Amino acid sequence: MFQGPAGRYAPSPSGDLHFGNLRTAVLAWLFARQSGRNFYMRVEDIDSERSSAESAKRQLEDLAALGIEWDEPVLYQHDRGDAYAQALAALPTYECYCTRRDIREAASAPHAQPGMYPGTCRDLPEELRAFRRLTLSSEGRLPAIRLRADVREWTVRDFYHGEFTGPVDDVILRRGGRFDQAQAGDWAYNLAVVVDDGFQGVDQVVRGDDLLFSAPAQAYVASLLGYEEPEYVHVPLVVNAENKRLAKRDGAVTLREMAQASGVQGVLHMLAESIGADPSDLLGSFDPSRLPRAPWVWR
Ligand code: GLU
Repeated sequence: MFQGPAGRYAPSPSGDLHFGNLRTAVLAWLFARQSGRNFYMRVEDIDSERSSAESAKRQLEDLAALGIEWDEPVLYQHDRGDAYAQALAALPTYECYCTRRDIREAASAPHAQPGMYPGTCRDLPEELRAFRRLTLSSEGRLPAIRLRADVREWTVRDFYHGEFTGPVDDVILRRGGRFDQAQAGDWAYNLAVVVDDGFQGVDQVVRGDDLLFSAPAQAYVASLLGYEEPEYVHVPLVVNAENKRLAKRDGAVTLREMAQASGVQGVLHMLAESIGADPSDLLGSFDPSRLPRAPWVWR
């Protein structure tokens, strides 16, 4: 069904895409098609509380309106539970009983690395594990499953950032939760993204550079599952006048809102300008080496 080599765009359907998302989507499409790859859309709706089918539909409509085309079918993560379960079973893992508060407190201890799981549940003796499991289940809750990583860092290659070495911790692969709510929403992004990229033959990952930091852990998980590491292309974000990542509250930033003032063609002009390409021939004129390396300021 899916065939590599391929690129992809993987939006989370929790509202309309804004100018920054659209720009990243255009770049992902350009990188894939200029290099003769297949190009897939993947709807990252594992977070069932925040995702909606209506939002996914609108996002795909907006991407098509900009002239982006993709190979069928569209992959929806809510259909992929079996594949994630299979991958989880193949990885070295352990149960984690920590609450958010436990993790916060452990993170404030001396020598704790900010943002990294300190390994509290990694080497618990079996009796203690049984006790924690029982306590959780009496509250109607399930433990999270973490990766038992045997490296502390990993190096990836990125088109714009060169060799990038970043920390790898025992990332969550399946979230804890309540028994009564256990469903597809429990899978963690760091597992789903790797399993799906592998499944779809994705060997080129173009996305916002706020995700560069998570690439080493994902590449490490990919290596454990026997997947080739993709070529990473982390592109600069679009920011607002205060140099903060563009968000919906920054004004008329979605395609539908912007098109009211300047038409879809006007939006396309802005997008083309922001990546240094000719709006009448994006595919023929885009030159990756001329993409501005600084964040693009939205006006
Ligand atoms: N779904 C993620 C997002 O919308 C993108 C993940 C990725 O490209 O790896 O931010």
